[in-house]
Amino acid sequence: MYSLILTAELAGVTDLRPKDTEEHPYFYTFKVQCTSCREVHPNWEKLEVPGSRGEANFVWKCRLCTRTHSASMMTTPSAYEESKGKGQKVIDFDCRGLEFTEFKADGEWEAKGVESSTPFSSIDLSDGEWYDYDEKAGEEVSIKDFVPLNPRPMLQSLINEDIIVRLKWGQTEYKGQLVSVDSYMNIQLANTEEFLEGKSTGSLGQVLIRCNNVLWISAAKGVEMKDVKMSD
Ligand SMILES: [Zn+2]
Repeated sequence: MYSLILTAELAGVTDLRPKDTEEHPYFYTFKVQCTSCREVHPNWEKLEVPGSRGEANFVWKCRLCTRTHSASMMTTPSAYEESKGKGQKVIDFDCRGLEFTEFKADGEWEAKGVESSTPFSSIDLSDGEWYDYDEKAGEEVSIKDFVPLNPRPMLQSLINEDIIVRLKWGQTEYKGQLVSVDSYMNIQLANTEEFLEGKSTGSLGQVLIRCNNVLWISAAKGVEMKDVKMSD
């Protein structure tokens, strides 16, 4: 599995997501590694993932070993929210025989004003930043330091550190010490504390969290649980 994790500094806008409509499908742009011959292919590959429209498949033939591999989207993309921590998971891909090694934010993105709900489309993030003006709110809006993170190295670098893991449902978060991450990105935590809607419900000790339950992960350093805003 490959999880696309983004980090960005949003000011005045939220719900950042790839603009993906029937007329203008979004193409996710990746560098691809073949797991049969380990070759990392130098070209950027564009894959259309019509997740909301049923079949989601990227079929790819390795030019070196000529094997055919595929990837499919496991979830519909989540929006990047201004109020959540850094390093939010946007989408999961189920990869068969290939791995994505790098993501490029090609194409158009959309977001909306935090208070005004002013829609912004045609956001270009290829330079990692974007600036506009929200007429309704009367303020400048921006996206800065937009960086796709490679989740595995990012998580590896957090081993032995305290992290916060937000689950996809139940407004549940676990805070604990990251013990290990396997190749599927299943997460093992020690000294885990569970939070429901931001309130501690007690200590759970050792916890194994299956990768497909995770909405986002962030380092706990400097984050007080009471300061973590709940979005929904
Ligand atoms: Zn190959």
